[in-house]
Amino acid sequence: MGIDTIATTSTDNMNTQTIFVSGATGFIAQHLILQLLAKGYKVVGSVRSIAKGENLQQNMNSKNFNYEIVEDLQKEGAFETALLKHPDVTVFIHTASPVTFDSDDVEKDLLFPAINGTKNVLAAIKNVSPQITRVVITSSIAAIMNPDHDPTIMVDESTWNPTTWELAKINGCFGYFASKKFAERAAWEFLESERPNFTLTTINPAFVFGPQAFDSEVTSKLNLSNAIISDLLKIKPGEPVPDKSDPSIDVRDVATAHIIAIEKIEAIGKRIILKNEDYSNQLILDAINKGVPELRGKIAIGTPGTKKPLNFFNDQKSRQLLGLNYTSLETSVIETVRQFIKYQK
Ligand code: NAP
Repeated sequence: MGIDTIATTSTDNMNTQTIFVSGATGFIAQHLILQLLAKGYKVVGSVRSIAKGENLQQNMNSKNFNYEIVEDLQKEGAFETALLKHPDVTVFIHTASPVTFDSDDVEKDLLFPAINGTKNVLAAIKNVSPQITRVVITSSIAAIMNPDHDPTIMVDESTWNPTTWELAKINGCFGYFASKKFAERAAWEFLESERPNFTLTTINPAFVFGPQAFDSEVTSKLNLSNAIISDLLKIKPGEPVPDKSDPSIDVRDVATAHIIAIEKIEAIGKRIILKNEDYSNQLILDAINKGVPELRGKIAIGTPGTKKPLNFFNDQKSRQLLGLNYTSLETSVIETVRQFIKYQK
């Protein structure tokens, strides 16, 4: 995939703004940066090391992409040096946050980096970049629903995950969900208490599937959400398929939604839910067995055609605001798997 081949939300390539994207090496951020560059924006991305920055710059292959090193997003003032070097930045998109369910120390691994990272970003913008007027934060449906949500209760853009700090410490899954809730809460509270020069929008995606932005980024262990798909490839024919389902969305739609959030005035002050079809392990296997013929007979079949619908999200307001035709779950899954089996290292 490259800049020439990706879809954009508009045909005009006249954007002159510079956008700062934190966590530029991330699965979602790489697609976002590609789409921003394709629309003519300049992008400065923060990464944790020179090696990661050089690799990303090579992949992006654009004079409009530059990177800055922010080694530890938790360090007070972490983003100030980077922002001071770029007085042309007018929009900040904060995607960086730990994304894992694997933790024995939830406060250290998940809660503190997510919350302090968000606070540091917002404080840095207020302190040194008054020209930044728009901030978008990649939150999650994890901030909206709790991990073992009762599917008979509807949630929407006004709902908050009720997980407490104490409950969050029980395991990495609860911890991740809570990290997104507490970090997003901290952002809205910052706006309320500090009255900065910028507006805020949050993007709250479901489980994100889809190919990596660059084939060279495919590894045997994919990012947390795509690992749901790659783990299913390890189940052999005849073996039981665990019953698991959740809401999902394609990564390219998540990237596009971030751009709509910086371009549409109506997005200001909103929490935008991004979900398309609910996935289930069975639905993913059905898509793979149908769309990736070379895997037939090598992976589980399960009970094709059965699925466990969830449908506990009312995302009408977000859908109306975005006006997107979402990529189907089947397309996301097939493209993820085709890339994975061809390029995994
Ligand atoms: P990802 O590929 O793991 O990307 C995470 C990014 O954050 C990477 O750039 C990573 O840097 C950076 N990061 C993580 N911990 C950090 C730390 N302690 N200090 C500095 N940087 C740190 O995950 P992703 O799926 O693209 O997620 C991006 C954002 O979307 C996150 O905020 C996540 O919560 C949110 N989100 C993801 C999903 C999903 O299903 N994937 C769904 C909803 C919301 P390195 O590359 O150096 O590790």
